[in-house]
Amino acid sequence: MKAYRLPPYCAAVLFDMDSTLYTHPEYQRSQLDLPVGRLARLRGKSFEEMNGEIARCREEWAAAHGGRKISMGKAFEAFGVSIAESVRWREELYEPERYLADDPRLCAALGKLAVRFALAVVTNNPVSIARRTLAALGASGFFRAIVGLDTCGVSKPHEAPFCKAAELCGAAAPFCVSVGDRYDIDIALPLELGMGGVLVDGVEDVYKLPDLLV
Ligand SMILES: [Mg+2]
Repeated sequence: MKAYRLPPYCAAVLFDMDSTLYTHPEYQRSQLDLPVGRLARLRGKSFEEMNGEIARCREEWAAAHGGRKISMGKAFEAFGVSIAESVRWREELYEPERYLADDPRLCAALGKLAVRFALAVVTNNPVSIARRTLAALGASGFFRAIVGLDTCGVSKPHEAPFCKAAELCGAAAPFCVSVGDRYDIDIALPLELGMGGVLVDGVEDVYKLPDLLV
């Protein structure tokens, strides 16, 4: 866990969802493989061919943008899959209930945080998947706002989802902290917006947040 510029007074905590509020490599893997498999079938290619093309696209984008990473939704746009279509595919393909279960330690941590701060989820998944994920974790009751790919129609690290979440929490940027597992997607842009950031290695770090944030 690494903290960046935490504000002296925090009003809202904006959580990434996947690999932040839960750690499950197999489910996370399925979120990449299932849409790639569907795109491969549509394009008449093998999974490996399609996967290779997308990986190359993401590498080229990173090379042209100082090593920064691109979101999957943005990479799929380069292959003719609109954000609206990406949302639909994810709603059809993803099954959080199959992989995730109640997490009492997460709920204990969120319960402590929710007493002190407004909590939001900011995810590149659709809102419906976020709701199903939180339900599977037993953590539905703690969040004031859920901002998904279909809320603003753009994916992180665009500023719109972070600004929307801050607005829904009633907090100005300098009083927000963004928490997530990917620096380029979850932390870099919030820092530019004047927020604080906490880079986590997984949900185990989220359990410790009540002691870190003041
Ligand atoms: Mg994540």
